[in-house]
Amino acid sequence: MRKQIAAANWKMNLTIDKAKSLLDDILKENTSPAENGQVIFAVPFPYLQMASEKIDGKKGYSIAAQNCSNKKSGAYTGEVSVEMLDSINIKYAVVGHSERREYYNETNAMLAEKIDLCLAQNIIPIFCCGEALEIREKEWQNEFVRQQLEESLFHLSAEQLKKIVIAYEPIWAIGTGKTASTEQAQQMHAFIRSVLAGKWGEETANNISILYGGSVKASNAKELFNCADVDGGLVGGASLIAPEFVQIINALKH
Ligand code: PEP
Repeated sequence: MRKQIAAANWKMNLTIDKAKSLLDDILKENTSPAENGQVIFAVPFPYLQMASEKIDGKKGYSIAAQNCSNKKSGAYTGEVSVEMLDSINIKYAVVGHSERREYYNETNAMLAEKIDLCLAQNIIPIFCCGEALEIREKEWQNEFVRQQLEESLFHLSAEQLKKIVIAYEPIWAIGTGKTASTEQAQQMHAFIRSVLAGKWGEETANNISILYGGSVKASNAKELFNCADVDGGLVGGASLIAPEFVQIINALKH
């Protein structure tokens, strides 16, 4: 069975004391993900080390960066390289979140560079894709997401692709309280998997975890995660509330 993942995206929230108590509150519940389960906290850069220490030795828990540079190293003030992340043992990085695409003009081509750097450094990219409301209203979402996949991932080998996690996040559902229906989520996840199968074959496509993101909360997680092609969630707002996120972890397929 594919890895089932509950990934928390804290975005630019929480001061260090609040970040520590949120992690303590979640970890004290001793929620252990199933054998095939993984809980990931994508925390702000200054908290990576603290968060890594908190989860140290806890089976099924990992820390992610929320972004990484598309440059290897050098004179890029304010950027954080994959080599730096690896040097503090960070295993995952979110790549191409819609907020990065929209507010920092990250293009599919730049994201392809980030994916390559992550893979070369043995960091697992959580590659985000998803359409805006205008695109959904015109029913162009499949073509749009296909293009995102083609331009950022299609240069990879099957072996490389198997190391990636994909997160489908319809922009109209992020932070809006509006969730995709289970039918909309399942349809798009199955479509993404069919695009992967068309390029790399069924076996490879069936091995890739595809997470859903967009107003996942304790009350809708189980229904969404039960969809055949949904392998967990990338969770913003609800990941900042310990009891919510614990229930989301518990909603993963076993
Ligand atoms: C996200 O940050 O990726 C996200 C899906 O946010 P929210 O859960 O708040 O919609």
